[in-house]
Amino acid sequence: MTVSFWLADAGDDLTPREPLDGSVTVDVAIVGAGFSGLWTAREVLRRDPSRSVLVVEAEIAGFGASGRNGAWLSSGIAVTPSELERRTSAATVRAVTRAMRATVDEVIHALDEDGIDARVRRGGILRIARGAHELPALSGSMAAATRLGIDEGLQVLSADELAARVRVAGGLRAVFDPYAAAIHPGRLVRGLARAVEANGGRLVEGTPALDVRGRAGGVSRPQVRTATGTVTADAVVLATEAWTAQLPRRRRELLPLYSLIVLTDPVDYATWREIGWRGHELLSSHRYTVDYLSRTVDGRVLFGGRGAPYHLGSRIDPAYDRHAATHGLLRDQLAGWFPPLANTRFSHAWGGPLGMPRDWLPSFAFDPASGLGHTWGYTGQGVGASNLGGRVLADLIVEGVTPFAELPMVGHRSRRWEPEPLRWLGARYLQTSLARIDARAARTGRAPTGRSLAERLVRH
Ligand SMILES: Cc1cc2nc3c(=O)[nH]c(=O)nc-3n(C[C@H](O)[C@H](O)[C@H](O)COP(=O)(O)OP(=O)(O)OC[C@H]3O[C@@H](n4cnc5c(N)ncnc54)[C@H](O)[C@@H]3O)c2cc1C
Repeated sequence: MTVSFWLADAGDDLTPREPLDGSVTVDVAIVGAGFSGLWTAREVLRRDPSRSVLVVEAEIAGFGASGRNGAWLSSGIAVTPSELERRTSAATVRAVTRAMRATVDEVIHALDEDGIDARVRRGGILRIARGAHELPALSGSMAAATRLGIDEGLQVLSADELAARVRVAGGLRAVFDPYAAAIHPGRLVRGLARAVEANGGRLVEGTPALDVRGRAGGVSRPQVRTATGTVTADAVVLATEAWTAQLPRRRRELLPLYSLIVLTDPVDYATWREIGWRGHELLSSHRYTVDYLSRTVDGRVLFGGRGAPYHLGSRIDPAYDRHAATHGLLRDQLAGWFPPLANTRFSHAWGGPLGMPRDWLPSFAFDPASGLGHTWGYTGQGVGASNLGGRVLADLIVEGVTPFAELPMVGHRSRRWEPEPLRWLGARYLQTSLARIDARAARTGRAPTGRSLAERLVRH
């Protein structure tokens, strides 16, 4: 089992809790003890402490993306504001933006309430144009924010203003977005698991759900089948993100895409003086092949990126958490961002699968008829969105309604992915094309045209 730096550093006992030992009946059963499952459990118990809540986890709480991520608690979702406007309306974009910005505060407030020290550093995000070829993307995103009326608090920084915060090689301009914080995901997810138990919820670990069925036909209540017992409940929530692809009848719901991370040793004081970065801002560029950086509280630099290959049949395997070529590329790229780190050693390298829906839009849904719900499909931006998903699911299960009903994620169902081998061909085509487009732009200094097939396909 992969134990990322974050889980190992969470200061928690990682000995698995007892597995399920026989069939049980509860009010609410949740499959998956990552942020989605644990926020849902927490919020159900807050709305109605009398409900019995059981979280069923295949490995240990935080084993999935929640215990491995890039530490970005942001207000983002994967669909860009312009694309969301095209699919819905400007008013909907504003509603989503408001809800997601408030979610960042909500998470920080919940941590205070539950006494979880997730080492929050509220430094916002700097999206940096590293070279002239990235300036059009920066200007385009800022122009869209202004047009849609979601630019409040956003700031365009000149090269000098950026350097006063953090000295990034080639940094020409940046957009500062204050609605984000760096967090310690291991402390957050393990703390949440303890808080759920403290509030009366039960967690079983080492208990993979083999099948999940809703109320239908001869089955009067939804059920989760495991090797050591069946859980019967009034409501069952799937919070299995990338691993959803391994469940019967759900193989094409989400595409598991690997994101990989390298982490440096603690950086010495003199080097930090050269780099700056005292504000702990989260950093990214404007490439297609996503990159993300954060500064840990103990003075390391985390550098993450997508680009590791998609595997035929949506396979997930612990061996895929490491990909020598991608990890090597990330190490080299970090030195490109920060030349003073060229000789810094790397202490950790890991990765994990994120869940990508066919239309990139997360989905928070509960069907009272079948008794089944899910919150998933964050495409690598679930640290914040899973909290909103958990609140929506708890609203729908406990109250039957949610104040967030107008958001396009609520009750949403993405179309399914193509069958194999089409899915593999499409995913690999996009991955290699976008990497090539990024490399060409960096080499020539000319911005991508946006007209290639790959760029049109990922306009999201
Ligand atoms: C390397 C990486 C970096 C990322 N960086 C960021 C970031 O910086 N910011 C951000 O917002 N998002 C980031 N993400 C995405 C974010 O971490 C996820 O969107 C979020 O953690 C999803 O939470 P979750 O609870 O839905 O899923 P997960 O945390 O993946 O949890 C799913 C859980 O379900 C369990 N499970 C699966 N199948 C079964 C089964 N059959 N039975 C029982 N249990 C099962 C798994 O073991 C797992 O514990 C990143 C993801 C990765 C992989």
